[in-house]
Amino acid sequence: MQRDSRLFDLIEQERQRQTRGIELIASENFVSPAVLEAAGSVLTNKYAEGYPGKRYYGGCEVVDEVENLAIERAKELFGAAYVNVQPHSGSQANAAVFMACLQPGDTIMGFDLSHGGHLTHGSPVNFSGKLYRAVFYGVQKETGLLDYEQIEDLAVKEKPKMIIAGASAYSRDMDFKRFREIADKVGALLLADISHPAGLIAKGVLNNPLPYAHFVTTTTHKTLRGPRGGLIMMGENFENPFGIRLKNGNLRKMSGLLDLAVFPGNQGGPLEHVIAAKAVAFGEALQPEFSDYIKQVQANAQSLGKAMVEKGYEIISGGTDNHMILIDLRNKGITGKLAEKALELADITANKNMVPFDNQSPFITSGIRLGTPAITTRGLNAQDMRRVADLIDECLMNPEEEANLKAVKSQVNQLMAGRDLFQFSTVGSPV
Ligand code: PLP
Repeated sequence: MQRDSRLFDLIEQERQRQTRGIELIASENFVSPAVLEAAGSVLTNKYAEGYPGKRYYGGCEVVDEVENLAIERAKELFGAAYVNVQPHSGSQANAAVFMACLQPGDTIMGFDLSHGGHLTHGSPVNFSGKLYRAVFYGVQKETGLLDYEQIEDLAVKEKPKMIIAGASAYSRDMDFKRFREIADKVGALLLADISHPAGLIAKGVLNNPLPYAHFVTTTTHKTLRGPRGGLIMMGENFENPFGIRLKNGNLRKMSGLLDLAVFPGNQGGPLEHVIAAKAVAFGEALQPEFSDYIKQVQANAQSLGKAMVEKGYEIISGGTDNHMILIDLRNKGITGKLAEKALELADITANKNMVPFDNQSPFITSGIRLGTPAITTRGLNAQDMRRVADLIDECLMNPEEEANLKAVKSQVNQLMAGRDLFQFSTVGSPV
């Protein structure tokens, strides 16, 4: 058979685009060759509905071991007692938790999307806002920080059945202990969605919610540097107290309810090739070198933030604890949309983002979100961040001047030339 050059040429074009540019999308990363190899392996051929040891198909003895390995490694990485590695995405991990615990119409309380939350935390355009009654907490206008008093007051007033602690554009650590106290006060369940900072939490750089939250969900492809996918976890203390009484009086434990909510509740056959790639990524994240990587991600975000502040940019909350910064561009007189476009023309990829109390629509926005997981994987260090800030500023000072953007682009391409996509560490072998 002839090679499908039309398609494979496109893949090559995308590889070149990724290689020549500065990738600042906070939710993206570059996986290791070993993760890529597992994701592209013959495991894609296998149907395996069910769970290890309890499948609806024959021939699952190998994928059972693969899935068990992914589960064991995730447990070790996060200190979890229960893990489900089958969710195809972060959204599906959240959907499964909701399905296991909530009835349509129940109240959920999430972080306002326009303040940094995620669609699946109750947005009206998402299943979470269509099926459930969503109320939202946000950040303080003056500080850009979560206001736990306001969260508590809102919880007392609205009596949510579930509180969701987690965000897509919040650069500060979260106090999960405080969230749990609030949840306990109103009898709510607590879901921590650590999709963004998962890698920093795994290496102990930020608070781990597992001792406090009833459920923890995450994506595997952001700071964790694995394949695209999701995970659901529970900590040591939460396995037994939860569940439902069946007609025969037996308790269906929460772990069983979550498993059923993933399959057959929300999904069909698991993607065992992706689960294998998750296992490889967890193995890499368990290595000491991953701590060096994660600390560099954090140091780079802090350096980039500092350099941008020195150039007169306003950073929400004044800085960062994690891998991202959110910039309010209003004092520079440009919108997020224009900034994203200008940067793109210079081969710098970032995304426009609402800032808290934004007066622009989500299609325009007043902000831009910058993240360091991907450029750190490419080997850039804190000193390089000054250069990156210079290049961003040169674009944003004259965002509509093509010659200027072209000149920046050639400097960007020069900075990234000769760097592999996966450069920070050569670790890629199993633990
Ligand atoms: N939760 C949070 C906090 C996220 O930031 C994201 C993705 O950006 C998701 C969930 C959803 O992940 P996915 O895109 O894999 O569905």
